[in-house]
Amino acid sequence: MKVHYLGAPYASRAHSLCDDMVRSIRAEHLANVKENYVDIAYTALVCEHGSVFEGRGTHRRTGANGSQALNEQDYAVCALLGSKGMTVPTDAMLNGLVDAIEWLRRSGDAGNWVGGHRDGYATACPGDQLYAWVEQGAKRPAGVKTPTPPPGIYVVRAQDTIAAIARRLNVSWQELAVVNGIKAPYTIYPEQQLHVPGKPVLEIPPFPGEDAFVIGRRHPAVVELDACLIAKGFTRNHDGNGYQKGPLFTEYTRRNVADFQRATAELRSDPDGYPGPLTWKLLHS
Ligand SMILES: [Zn+2]
Ligand SMILES: [Zn+2]
Repeated sequence: MKVHYLGAPYASRAHSLCDDMVRSIRAEHLANVKENYVDIAYTALVCEHGSVFEGRGTHRRTGANGSQALNEQDYAVCALLGSKGMTVPTDAMLNGLVDAIEWLRRSGDAGNWVGGHRDGYATACPGDQLYAWVEQGAKRPAGVKTPTPPPGIYVVRAQDTIAAIARRLNVSWQELAVVNGIKAPYTIYPEQQLHVPGKPVLEIPPFPGEDAFVIGRRHPAVVELDACLIAKGFTRNHDGNGYQKGPLFTEYTRRNVADFQRATAELRSDPDGYPGPLTWKLLHS
């Protein structure tokens, strides 16, 4: 298998737009007169949210590896990752790539070798960030915790249906759909956050300003910050007695905030550990 990226600027987007992206890539490939593709060139595509989209699928020669011989030899799995804009794969994307790799081994007779488009072909694809991961063995990311959702929010899992979620939450599916503005044909997607009917969603307090978060200084907003970190499970840095709420912003606080920023797609480009308005908002959502 060979891993690819888009090789063009790409911006992080809502998951509801990912299937449109895959369709637009397919349309672009079909419109390519020179290559004369019969279908999207990739075997599969993986978005930043970890979903795997079937491209040409199993037991079909790809069109993406650069030559007939390479297309015969390897499947091509493309990450929806850019050469500019969104260039760092999310953990969800890496997990999705492994899902695709495992699927191609299980159902497509793929071998064990995983490389990048650049292996044996002169190209920058799949980009330095993703290629480094390939070279390290293309493993599932470990150690980064998925944030725990606040009360009143249900995060949709793979294979969930509205009816199944409603049963799990003990509410009617009609109510669940109405509260979340979901209309027929009732499409939901993994990682989507649904409001649980009858449970209030916490109000986000206003951002207290960057001055509230200075190492060695006390501020009431740090208590609130700590409560969010604890609720979301980002507490691995502490003085040995476990991470506690308190008004003092310490190096432990900063490191736990940095963990949260690294684990959050919108924040990971600058995980400095100092909350800004967006970190504050996402810590509360
Ligand atoms: Zn490529
Ligand atoms: Zn997506």
